[in-house]
Amino acid sequence: MSTQTLVIATNNAHKLEEIGAILAPLGIVVESGATHGFGDVEETGTTFAANALLKAQAGFRASGLPTLADDSGLAVDALDGAPGVYSARYAGASATDADNNAKLLQALAGNDQRGAAFHCAMALVVPSGAVPAAIANDWTGGELPEGGHYFIVEGQVRGRILTAHQGSGGFGYDPLFYTPVFDKTFGELASEDKNSISHRAEALKHLVTLLSALYPTPSATI
Ligand code: IMP
Repeated sequence: MSTQTLVIATNNAHKLEEIGAILAPLGIVVESGATHGFGDVEETGTTFAANALLKAQAGFRASGLPTLADDSGLAVDALDGAPGVYSARYAGASATDADNNAKLLQALAGNDQRGAAFHCAMALVVPSGAVPAAIANDWTGGELPEGGHYFIVEGQVRGRILTAHQGSGGFGYDPLFYTPVFDKTFGELASEDKNSISHRAEALKHLVTLLSALYPTPSATI
């Protein structure tokens, strides 16, 4: 197949590399949004999907090419889904991971209800003419007023918030997030173990299925 370019609307080089490695076998080459003039987008949405779409729309507007963006965070049952879309800035605009974790422990102090989930939403915007009706009907998404068709895929992983840190790996809330799958926190997991069950991995699985349908490889079409 001809190579398909996908713009990733992020300024995070780590995400670009991770997503690029997963999509390379599909013949998809990722490019940084920055090379197409994509800058910071204000995340004014109230859901992960809405914020992912804001970023993907901005990237599509800037590049005119198929564009992917993601948004993720932690939702705690006893806190009515907080910190949610505010996960990165839970303890303030310039909060560190340590500040956010300390605030979370404080908010749950003395509370036995500690269920939580990491969520990831990915938004893909492609030129409208590139979407067969059967695919548009099968996947969550729609037409954008300014042109382009958007798709939303999501992934979650459930776990529990411990009462103290365990492990120093990963980032964000990982040292407080316990998964029964490995009987460890995400902060104690090897990255390949985290990547086998994470919210991002779940969303990416759906994305790979969607992209394979949109851009079939020769072997898939023979
Ligand atoms: P982003 O939108 O994916 O950059 O993530 C927003 C925030 O959610 C991060 O700053 C973290 O606080 C939290 N978060 C998202 N994914 C993870 C994860 O895999 N582990 C720990 N924290 C995460």
